[in-house]
Amino acid sequence: MDSTDANANPNANANAKAGTNPHGLYPWQGPAWLQLQQMLPRLPHALLIHGPRGTGKTAFAERFAQALLCERPDAGGHACNACASCTWFVQYSHPDYRRVRPELLDAEDASNDSAEGADGDNEATGEKPAARSSKAPSKDIRIVQVRALADFINMSTHRQGRRVILLYPAETLNHIAANALLKMLEEPSPSTVFLLVTDSLDRLLPTILSRCRKFPMGEPPRAQSLQWLQSAGVKNAEALLAEQGGAPLRAQEMADSELRGAIDELLLHLATPGTEAAIKTAERLQKIPLAALVASMQRWIHDLFLLKLSGRIRYYPSHEKQLAALARRSDIAGLAGAVKSFNDRRAIADHPMSARLFIEDMLLEYAGLFAGSRITS
Ligand SMILES: [Zn+2]
Repeated sequence: MDSTDANANPNANANAKAGTNPHGLYPWQGPAWLQLQQMLPRLPHALLIHGPRGTGKTAFAERFAQALLCERPDAGGHACNACASCTWFVQYSHPDYRRVRPELLDAEDASNDSAEGADGDNEATGEKPAARSSKAPSKDIRIVQVRALADFINMSTHRQGRRVILLYPAETLNHIAANALLKMLEEPSPSTVFLLVTDSLDRLLPTILSRCRKFPMGEPPRAQSLQWLQSAGVKNAEALLAEQGGAPLRAQEMADSELRGAIDELLLHLATPGTEAAIKTAERLQKIPLAALVASMQRWIHDLFLLKLSGRIRYYPSHEKQLAALARRSDIAGLAGAVKSFNDRRAIADHPMSARLFIEDMLLEYAGLFAGSRITS
């Protein structure tokens, strides 16, 4: 991107994410932005922006919301960052704008003022309990939040006549809240635009899906992601990007994460599995958020399975040698079983009885996949 937009009001653009251009977009989002501009004359009343986690969809949707409300958007449809509407928007006080998201995300922002979160992804950071509240903040979008929208929608608008609701991650709408939202989507009030954002289309009610226009945002081009990571000073960008399935923001997050050391220790163990080592490793890793450990193991096992099946590797190409050696010692049925079993573990990782036993069990099951021990015993 060029640097001709240096005249944008720096204060007004204060909530733009690091690593974005002066319009607040990531370098891979240009084509999607253009596509939205083409849809503007006949913009659907509900857009469902979906795609892989950690690619900046939420920031993108926020920029679009701002642009929809801006009084003087530029020729490219970008918000001016200077009008009254933009000023209110970046302060989250625009009277015709509502942002609906789980309380947990508010709590995380509050406890981490300068956080530059990636799409509400909390796998890498682990779940932090609320610092100040006695009750844990909700991970769901709750019915009260959706009900509050009813009043908002029925009021007349203050500015340009448009009102915008940004709701994310849409998969955190609990069932009751989703049904309440459905009513609003069914009877759209004029000039209201809903922007829903999700990583997981398959976790949304089919009725919600059917009321929204889907707007896919795919995996960013690899070369662009790599360049972006490298210019952000991320070392080992290639390996991190592969590990995070091509999602650059997650790769950056993992590079900075304090979990990195623990994940590397886990990978080292996975490369040389064994019963005794499993118990020791479980002991050492028991303080690490389980979701992050299970996710890493899922990727590793996925790679083993893929390697066995088709000779390819997706997440850990930098560990090709170790993976190949392990693949030779395992059989495809065992690996297929492990893929399923680790999916199940992911589902219960939030509520284990004992973290240490959970990890131990996981590593022992993993060790059992390899014939080395069985052949010699
Ligand atoms: Zn503006």
